[in-house]
Amino acid sequence: MKTLKSYVSGAWHEAADGFVDLHDPCTEEVVGRASTAGIDFGAALAYARETGGPALRELTFAQRGEMLLAASKALHAQRDALIDLSLLNTGTTRKDAKFDIDGATGTLSFYAYLGKELGDRKVLLDGEGAQLGRSAKFWGQHVLVSRPGVAVHVNAFNFPAWGFAEKAACSLLAGVPAISKPATATSMLTERCIELLVEADVLPAGALSLACGRTGDLIGRLGSQDVLAFTGSADTGLMLRRGENLLRASTHVNIEADSLNAAVLGPDVDASCETWSLFLTEVVREMTQKSGQKCTAVRRIFCPKDRVDELLGALTERLADVVTGDPRDGSVSMGPLATAQQLDDAVAGVAKLVAGGAAIVSGAGERVEGASARAAGKGWFFGPTLLRADDPDAAAVVHEHEVFGPVATVMPYDGSAARAAALVARGDGTLVTSVYSDDQGFVGDYVASGGAFTGRLYLGSEKMAEQALGSGLALPQSIHGGPGRAGGGEELGGARGLSPYMQRVALQGSRSMIERLYGKPS
Ligand code: NAP
Repeated sequence: MKTLKSYVSGAWHEAADGFVDLHDPCTEEVVGRASTAGIDFGAALAYARETGGPALRELTFAQRGEMLLAASKALHAQRDALIDLSLLNTGTTRKDAKFDIDGATGTLSFYAYLGKELGDRKVLLDGEGAQLGRSAKFWGQHVLVSRPGVAVHVNAFNFPAWGFAEKAACSLLAGVPAISKPATATSMLTERCIELLVEADVLPAGALSLACGRTGDLIGRLGSQDVLAFTGSADTGLMLRRGENLLRASTHVNIEADSLNAAVLGPDVDASCETWSLFLTEVVREMTQKSGQKCTAVRRIFCPKDRVDELLGALTERLADVVTGDPRDGSVSMGPLATAQQLDDAVAGVAKLVAGGAAIVSGAGERVEGASARAAGKGWFFGPTLLRADDPDAAAVVHEHEVFGPVATVMPYDGSAARAAALVARGDGTLVTSVYSDDQGFVGDYVASGGAFTGRLYLGSEKMAEQALGSGLALPQSIHGGPGRAGGGEELGGARGLSPYMQRVALQGSRSMIERLYGKPS
């Protein structure tokens, strides 16, 4: 059994007590333990602020980009070993492990190239300048300046590699040191990633720290130039954002939380269309990838009412091909849930959907025996479960309760974009909504009536089907986040991803001085 360490104040810290166990979700065996007991978080924050921050801010964006590229390469070089760790501590299939790990290295390298593009500067222009005086001599220009604080990154259990890397990439490129706090249950992979970066010596001292275990008084010590970026459940997010020190200091807080993502099938799409096949492929993938433990997974499926039975039949057929079990067997296509708690929550969640008016169409909504399970009766296996709710207005719980597993509910609508948007809006804000239609009018109407209820609209159609990557992928070019229940935050989105870590300042002065200092917007 491995005892995980934290990396703070430029050194590894091993706790003596207060441990939380980490498991192999396929066998329930304890494979590690983690604790932050004994860490002086005040000193850890000071070290990051006073050593890591100045070292990062000394670098230009291009130099920070080089640093991120080196970080990406250091992780990629150990890809196979990281995949094995993912199998051990999160129970993912190799394919799902690659999704997490390649997502991490890909995002680091995306921000590396962005750094190169931003070039030899340390301050960013934000939008066009504007004339403020009688002539253009008196000029206004917004700029973004790195915050001289530290970013605390609290992550969810489902993406131990990508979750840490996507936040770190933005923070470090913006010139702000980070303390990464992975969800304890799956922190083995994050710990190894950070260990690899420390060994490769690619980051300045103090730029990246790691807290494996509870946060203690870490968050309570954040101040006005610090940032808290949280990913996890809406309840934890709400509790953290209420911290008095954060409210008093107006600390920048970014929350990425739950989401009852929706997939809408347009009225123009029937079984003869390529878009129908795309819809089936992607919905099944978005239900079952990472065993449905994705914040972007499809939870609600809206279908024109005359096609609901046909759709349920087609989805049931495809879901029957999913083999749930121990991913060490190559024929297994879906691993277990990550923790005993996740399994209990998924079982209770399906029961809640049923009590609230949904009916199970396929799957059990309960623990199943995993294929090729190494220990009989063990493992947090849960098969894909498809439900239907024929009265989506009455089935409030289907719009309100996120079952964080391979579970989705099909609901009918009348084929109008406004009605579909109104039903999706019952989820009170999604990270992503996907609309599958080749009818431009329907798509335009949906964007107008439903766009405000989501952070990202994935528009599936025949024309992009060949290159489609699926709605679940949080690409670094596009923002990740959503309104309402989804937390109201925004991460990634190219250069937008740097903004939480930088203060926007309105400069008002001589145009020639401002342009000599910072250049002109291109
Ligand atoms: P969680 O229980 O809210 O935990 C999230 C993180 O918060 C973990 O690192 C956890 O640490 C930490 N945490 C919990 N209580 C805390 C406290 N009192 N003080 C400081 N930190 C605390 O969520 P989860 O079970 O890991 O993740 C599942 C949820 O996350 C789902 O609801 C899912 O929708 C959401 N999610 C959202 C996104 C997104 O991008 N919007 C992405 C992934 C997941 P410990 O592990 O040590 O408790």
